[in-house]
Amino acid sequence: MRFCKKCGRPAKGRYLLCHAHLREYKRNQEKIYRQNSAAKIKAYRANWVSTNRDRVNELGSKARKRRHRIDPLKTMLRAAKRRAAQNNIEFSITIEDIFMPLRCPLLDIPLNVNDNKLGPDSPTLDRIRNSIGYVPRNVIVVSYAANRCKGNLNSDDIMKIAMNLKFLETFRGL
Ligand SMILES: [Zn+2]
Repeated sequence: MRFCKKCGRPAKGRYLLCHAHLREYKRNQEKIYRQNSAAKIKAYRANWVSTNRDRVNELGSKARKRRHRIDPLKTMLRAAKRRAAQNNIEFSITIEDIFMPLRCPLLDIPLNVNDNKLGPDSPTLDRIRNSIGYVPRNVIVVSYAANRCKGNLNSDDIMKIAMNLKFLETFRGL
């Protein structure tokens, strides 16, 4: 029987360490290796990333979807910030300025965070007035269906469309 040189408990293997101390020793060795080989590890990782683009993209998209499922407001906000920067639109809102309603405030349908792609009932960020940027009070969460329908229009435009459509439906007996 051999014993751990650190604590005297029964030891196995060539290091003369018990199970717990062997684990501690290996963890330390790994830490030292990581510290000494930081540059090598970084280069290896960069090489792996550049030769496994598809896998990296797949993992990235999976991670994004998971983040969206966990905190859709946060991911929507991030995406809006990127869009705003690309299109030179003012962006001054934080997560405090928006909230996730249970139902679309425009279409009154339940909102659902879909895993795969945007559906009619997916939550999206909408600027109430399109002439104004992502500023407090101008941004709400609405269904993708309502957002797509609204586009750049305001309530007067949509009212006009609704009334004319109603008239056409009645007039043509549809
Ligand atoms: Zn020990």
